[in-house]
Amino acid sequence: MDTLSELEEHIGDCHRCPLGDTRTTLVFGVGRSDADIVFIGEAPGRNEDLKGEPFVGAAGALLDELLASIGLHRSEVYIANILKCRPPGNRDPQQVEIETCTPFLREQVRLIDPTAIVTLGNFATRFVLKTSAGITGLRGSLHRAGRFTVLPIFHPAAALYDSTKRDVLFADFALIGEVLASHDEESREPVQGELFG
Ligand code: URA
Repeated sequence: MDTLSELEEHIGDCHRCPLGDTRTTLVFGVGRSDADIVFIGEAPGRNEDLKGEPFVGAAGALLDELLASIGLHRSEVYIANILKCRPPGNRDPQQVEIETCTPFLREQVRLIDPTAIVTLGNFATRFVLKTSAGITGLRGSLHRAGRFTVLPIFHPAAALYDSTKRDVLFADFALIGEVLASHDEESREPVQGELFG
């Protein structure tokens, strides 16, 4: 696959896992195909399932605010999820769904080739960093997955009704600017093996 559109076409009207039967719209991802930062959330919720775009509900409004706080708009980054289809009732993603769906996310990241991946919450962080550690201990520090710098942060939904987490999210977002500023093109290594290391 050479482009995101080819990948999206390849995924098609996906029924590779049972979520294909219950979703309304497959939520592929949105943003720049050559973004410096890829944000990875968990799975589409009700609003996203209806609209076909990630983070368009209340958590999305907070994500837009966080982006604005570092001078960015969602059109300048790329936003995707661990799962492309909504789990019924917003339940947690199941292992079989993650295994079926994430090869497409890997391919998206390979094609976009960002400098940094920002993981939102536990599911994205555990998948990208291949860890069972929780987000509270990992958030706000820089990690490495293959050739990508990874910044785990709280999921915006977790901060909607918790002003302490909200403050932490804004502080962690400030790190994104630093990551981009300090990025050195020369330090990038060629892709080898599994994308996320
Ligand atoms: N929560 C997510 O993790 N992803 C979305 O797209 C919306 C809410």
